[in-house]
This record gives sequence, C-alpha cells and structure tokens, in this order.
Amino acid sequence: MRVGGIPIGSGAPIVVQSMTNTDTGDIAATVAQVKALADAGSELVRVSVNTSEAADAVPRIRERLDRMGCEVPLIGDFHFNGHKLLSNFPDCAKALAKYRINPGNVGRGTKHDPQFAMIIERAIDYGKPVRIGVNWGSLDQDLLAQLMDDNARSRQPQDATTVMREALITSAIRSAQLAEALGLPGDAIILACKMSNVQDLIAVYQELARRCDYPLHVGLTEAGMGTKGIIASSAALAVLLQQGIGDTIRMSLTPEPGGDRTREVTVAQELLQTMGLRSFAPLVSACPGCGRTTSTVFQQLAQDIQGFLRRSMPVWRPRYPGVENMTVAVMGCVVNGPGESKMANIGISLPGSGEIPVAPVFVDGQKTVTLKGDTIAADFEAIIFDYVRARFGGEEPAASLRAARRSIPIRNP
Ligand code: SF4
Repeated sequence: MRVGGIPIGSGAPIVVQSMTNTDTGDIAATVAQVKALADAGSELVRVSVNTSEAADAVPRIRERLDRMGCEVPLIGDFHFNGHKLLSNFPDCAKALAKYRINPGNVGRGTKHDPQFAMIIERAIDYGKPVRIGVNWGSLDQDLLAQLMDDNARSRQPQDATTVMREALITSAIRSAQLAEALGLPGDAIILACKMSNVQDLIAVYQELARRCDYPLHVGLTEAGMGTKGIIASSAALAVLLQQGIGDTIRMSLTPEPGGDRTREVTVAQELLQTMGLRSFAPLVSACPGCGRTTSTVFQQLAQDIQGFLRRSMPVWRPRYPGVENMTVAVMGCVVNGPGESKMANIGISLPGSGEIPVAPVFVDGQKTVTLKGDTIAADFEAIIFDYVRARFGGEEPAASLRAARRSIPIRNP
C-alpha cells in the first residue's frame, strides 16, 4: 500500500506519523504546524476534519504546502459527520491522501452501516486508503453491549477486560470486512486499536496481528504529558515493534502549554532508531555525568550538539545521504570519554574535575585536535559539519577538519 507515495506494510520501513492540534479551519496555523512536523521528520500528518470550515480549508492547506515544497501526505480524521463532509466537499476528499474513521463514531443503530458505507464509497471514488481506527474511549457501544450479553450467557464467562479487548479487535476486523464487502480493496485498509493501558494495548495488538494481515498503525492513545507519556508509549510500542508488529507509529504525547508539537515526531524517531529499526538523525551518546563533572559545561555541550544536529537535519537529509547513521559522543571525563569517543564517528571528551582543561576530539577513532577555551561548542560543531560534508557529501574537507585530522589545534587561545 502507498499513502501519497509513502509505502506502508509488506516489509516497508515503519512510518512515523503525527497529528496537528490546530483548528484546521485556521489555514495559516495548520500549514505552519504541518510544515514543522514534516520538517521534524513526520512522514504522514493527520489533521482533524470536523466541520465544514475544516473540510473547506483542507485543499487550500494542501495547495499552500505544495507551493512551499512540502509534499507530506495529509490524512483526514473524521468522526460523526465524515460521511457528509467527504460527500459535500469533494476537493477535500481528493486532497487527502488517506481517511481515518472510527467505527465507534460513524453513527449509532441503523445509521451506522449506511454512514460507514458513504465514507467507504468516497474512498473508492477517489482511490484513497482508509485507516479503521478503533479507540478504547469511543468503542462501538452496540457491539460492546452485544459481546457483553453473549459473554454473560456463555458457560465460561470471561472477565470484563477480556471482553472489552475482544470488542476492540472485533470492531476493527468486522469494519474492515464490511469495507471490503463494499468494494474497498483489502490492500487499501490499515487497522488500529488504540488504548491507554500498556498491557491492554500489547495484548490487543498481538491478537490483532494474529488474526489479520492488514497493515497496523500502532500507538498508545492518551499517553499523557512529559516523561510519563514518553515512557508509557515507548514501553508499549517497543514490545510490539520487537515482535514485528506495527507498520506506522504515532506517539500521542500531550504537549506542555506552549510546548513543541514536533516532540512527538522526535520521540517516535528516537524509539525506532535506538531499537535499530530505522535511522533518522545522528545519535548523540552522552554519559550521565557524575561527581567527576561538577560543572554544567558537559551537559550544556551535549544539549547544544543534539540541538545543532536536529536543526541541521532538514538541510542535511537530502544533501548528505547516510548522515542519519552518524554517531557523535559527548563525554564528561577521561574515565570513559576517550573510549566511547573512539567508537563514535566523532567524539569529544571533556575535562572532568581536576583534569587539565582541554577536550580531545576523536574522528573515526583517531585522536585529533584538542579544543580549549570558551568556544569549544562552536569549534566542535564546525568539525562535525566539515566531517558531514566530507564523509557524506564527498566535498573537500574544510580547514577545521583538515586541521583536526592532522592533529593541529584549530586555534590557540
Ligand atoms: S565518563 Fe566520566 S563523567 Fe561521565 S559518567 Fe563516566 S566517570 Fe562520570
């Protein structure tokens, strides 16, 4: 399957997805956030399409992004009125690369099937894939009631959690089967069953993967804020990804007020990269610091270098293929600093307490220049940049790297 040119499933690399939190009707704000998410590395971006204004805005958002050279596919998130919006706003239906629908929010009772069918028909009309995304918090209540009744009548009733898990899986698979019966190709369907409890999520996805062959979008819903959200999501997704479950992922992190929405992209990328599943940006190895690093110089340098690499990646990614595999070490003292630095492409070992205040730099395992003074960060960034240009761009090494390779101090403060 392809979503706007991005391959999904059948062994394709796991795709990082994100979602905006702007009012989609606010075209300028939504374009800016989609662009920021895409620049951070999000390969698919979902937007809410909840009103006529939002549906009307979608093709304009697409046009503006295209004019900016931002080709990231947009996914429309529909609840309650998706059947109407996709029918009444054909330009919106065409501009989106995929539709996400929630079987629990398509309509209750006798309205469910016809409204579900309308959405699937629009997907068929415009040749769009559909993600059938079941969510614990909006589970199809008719289906749940039916399964609870069946369970109560069975000889060996299951506990409520087991029935709830089964309801999610059944809702997803039945909806996919209904979509196929309506004419949507099976290879245009992605499934998701999101929950907020780690153990529930793992159990549900393991069973879902056992019972169907559709690509799966994985994510812990309502993961939460800060470290809690990151840890809960990573714990759940790491188990699934390690078992080969998951074709697209999203980290549903709650940003702090005024926080950066792109963090969910960075965290998803770092999870995949630290697990060795994909590479997105150079990884910085940094020691935790200890009593041998009593100043904040070392923490500051690690943070500066990480930020420098992240900021550089939108430019470096197309220009220097392979740069995402580079490793950089920022170490706090002589105990593990030289050893770890030698194993990275580029490493720096800062002076710990009581050491001579100089920082040897290692390039491809060789000790080269020794930096000192108050411009260590800038000098180290210059060496990294020159290394990237020479190693991944085939460019002539610049002065700083030539100096580093000849073990000549760049400067003599
Ligand atoms: S490398 Fe040095 S500063 Fe860093 S944790 Fe080890 S002993 Fe402490």
